[in-house]
Amino acid sequence: MSKYAIPFILFLAFTSTVLGKVAIVTSTSDLKSIAEMIGGDLVTVESLNKGASNPHSVETLPSYMLKVGKANLYCKIGLDLDSWAAPIIDGSRNGKLVVVDCSRNVPVLEKPTQKVDASMGDVHPLGNPHYWLDPNNGLVIADNILEGLISVDPANAETYRKNRDAFAAKLNQKIAEWKSVAAKLQGTEIVTYHDSWPYFANAFGIKVDGFVEPRPGIEPTPSHTAEIIELVKKRQIKMICMEPYFSDRAPKTIARETGAKVVVLPPSVGGALEASDYFSLFDTILKILAGN
Ligand SMILES: [Zn+2]
Repeated sequence: MSKYAIPFILFLAFTSTVLGKVAIVTSTSDLKSIAEMIGGDLVTVESLNKGASNPHSVETLPSYMLKVGKANLYCKIGLDLDSWAAPIIDGSRNGKLVVVDCSRNVPVLEKPTQKVDASMGDVHPLGNPHYWLDPNNGLVIADNILEGLISVDPANAETYRKNRDAFAAKLNQKIAEWKSVAAKLQGTEIVTYHDSWPYFANAFGIKVDGFVEPRPGIEPTPSHTAEIIELVKKRQIKMICMEPYFSDRAPKTIARETGAKVVVLPPSVGGALEASDYFSLFDTILKILAGN
């Protein structure tokens, strides 16, 4: 070994942890937003799914493998929502990549009591994966990302911990603010297109009575739409809430037959213009709901 080899290796280690930023790739925009708040100036974050498209189905582009190939950390939603990320991670051939499953320690809702037949197209086989929509789970996500960051960049552990504590403090303050906005929504009954909202509904006292999809991931059928029309009439439901990436055909049919209103809610950061980070996501959803 040349006499310069060891100093050179030390120099590389120094530049990669001190001068270089930790490269994070996330499956979704919500994880990106939280990772940016925990990583601060020390990280770069890119999300593969942008918030205005369906997080269950993301087209795998070869460029995604190159991005993940250069990353230090990959943050996934887990619970089978982003199983599309597995071939990207494998294809990246990045042996040093640390993968963080952000669903770890999340109290999962709607866990199936019997085996779900995936051949039926149900996209929630392990329970409901839309857990980021309960802001209390934002802190669980933050702690998972914190642990991943410390494992790839232990030199900056203290900074990451401080950022996490600042995130937690702001989140708690915002949760109190959101709960006061949601007070007027207590007991409001809605129908949603996809089963994206059980965590949100639990957190804010809203009741989801039914879904435009017959099962998660299955397109609306005329017979199911007829059942939902009856339900909306019977329960006198005023809002048919839909995610921005679905067709509004069935929701509009239900609205026309019942007098309910179709309301588009952003289920992720970037799903509406104003929902630019994890905090403004909840500001936006609650503002839309309270205004209808
Ligand atoms: Zn889903």
